[in-house]
Amino acid sequence: MKYLVLLLVVGVALAWLSIARRRSRGERGGAPGAGRRAGAHRSEPTAMLACVHCGVHLPRPEALFDAAGRPYCSEAHRLAGPL
Ligand SMILES: [Zn+2]
Repeated sequence: MKYLVLLLVVGVALAWLSIARRRSRGERGGAPGAGRRAGAHRSEPTAMLACVHCGVHLPRPEALFDAAGRPYCSEAHRLAGPL
């Protein structure tokens, strides 16, 4: 019974510590919600495009486009053109 109480106390202490840690992290981010909003924006799904030459998928910001707006994974494939 003594150990059960001890376990309970340790569990509560650990839970309280993790909550306190999360709170201090949020306060460091500046205005409440600002950091969270930026994080949500960052975690927004990036549009994935398939290279029209080899078919490899890559995030839109990393894609290269030809004059027709077709996505390519690399300059070499852009020069090679679509298959
Ligand atoms: Zn490619």
